[in-house]
Amino acid sequence: MRVLRVLRNYFFYCGIEKDEYEAIKKDAYVSNFEVWKILHFLMLAMFGILYLCSLCYDLLRANSLLYILGFAYSLLIIIFFFIMKKDSIIPQFLIYLTMSLLFLFGIFLSLKNPDVPAVTFIAFLLITPMFMIDKPFFMVFELGAASTVFLLWTYYAKPHDIWLIDMANIVPFTIVGIFLNVIANSLRIKEFVLTRKINIQKDTDDLTGLKNKGAMNREITQFLESESANKGLLFVMDIDRFKSINDTYGHDIGDDVIFQFGLFLGDMFTGDEIVGRFGGDEFIVFIRNVDDADVARRIASDIVKGASEKVVYSDESKKISVSVGIAIYHGNETSYPEFFKKADTALYEAKADSVNRYHIYKEE
Ligand code: GH3
Ligand code: MG
Repeated sequence: MRVLRVLRNYFFYCGIEKDEYEAIKKDAYVSNFEVWKILHFLMLAMFGILYLCSLCYDLLRANSLLYILGFAYSLLIIIFFFIMKKDSIIPQFLIYLTMSLLFLFGIFLSLKNPDVPAVTFIAFLLITPMFMIDKPFFMVFELGAASTVFLLWTYYAKPHDIWLIDMANIVPFTIVGIFLNVIANSLRIKEFVLTRKINIQKDTDDLTGLKNKGAMNREITQFLESESANKGLLFVMDIDRFKSINDTYGHDIGDDVIFQFGLFLGDMFTGDEIVGRFGGDEFIVFIRNVDDADVARRIASDIVKGASEKVVYSDESKKISVSVGIAIYHGNETSYPEFFKKADTALYEAKADSVNRYHIYKEE
């Protein structure tokens, strides 16, 4: 069973686990896009040169139509590549289309020179799989189909002894092509997995597993700067008298309180909110596309109440209290520091207020 699982992972997920593969799939699409954009430029140049040469040399003249078609096709795809999104599925289909057309080109060349073995087709069998990161299963299908079409199509068109040589070459080279694809994919995919791990680590707060200050700054700034964004709620939270927890019960208990509060926020906000630890005992929640003050009050009240019930220490005998500063975004501020300052001012008002644990920033 283990062997089957390993084989499944190699042929469907490039040798890694399914969820890992799904997480980096789009990065692989972008890489395919970049690589094949360059390859289409190369094809454009090659077909262009071959076409010009075919005008001068008799040897190539018979193929001149194929060359000019190849040139026009490459140009068309390059134009498409400039219009399309890099991580969408359409360029991936176009890449398979290009591969299929290259194989067809190989078949046509072979039909035009039936007395010699199909060198170009075999070269494509070996080269093209190296430049495509996708489920290798699809490459099995692509190469299998190309070879089958070749052998069926040329069966009557080529002398039988040459066809036999072709078959003796194409069958093993199809298998080699498939394995080259599996190996190339499993090696290259590790690069994406590693990059993803590093990016996650870079953006994660060690103690709580939530986002860290840098990641939140970046994401909130991105949101505020986007044209369509004109609503948002920013909550800045700080645990009250946290220093005394550290001083009385020790740093480890202090860490555990921070961890528990992070866990509580992570459980409370499970959608596309930006949730993170700003530093020390300060946390941030940013909710996109909401600017209703009543909703803000309700959420702040839930945070204050929930934290005081769920975050406990000293054998569960002690509870914490938190203060919350709120700033409401109506599409005015474009700078995050300016917006953050408002929530921070509201936090200090909440800290100074002996009754209300949350305050909404009000313009003077
Ligand atoms: P206030 O009610 O005004 O918020 O007072 P406070 O005692 O909570 O004071 P403040 O928020 O300014 O202090 C935060 C303290 O948190 C200061 C620092 O020693 C401590 N601290 C910062 N990072 C960590 C950490 O990672 N773990 C622990 N245990 N303590 C930390
Ligand atoms: Mg504090």
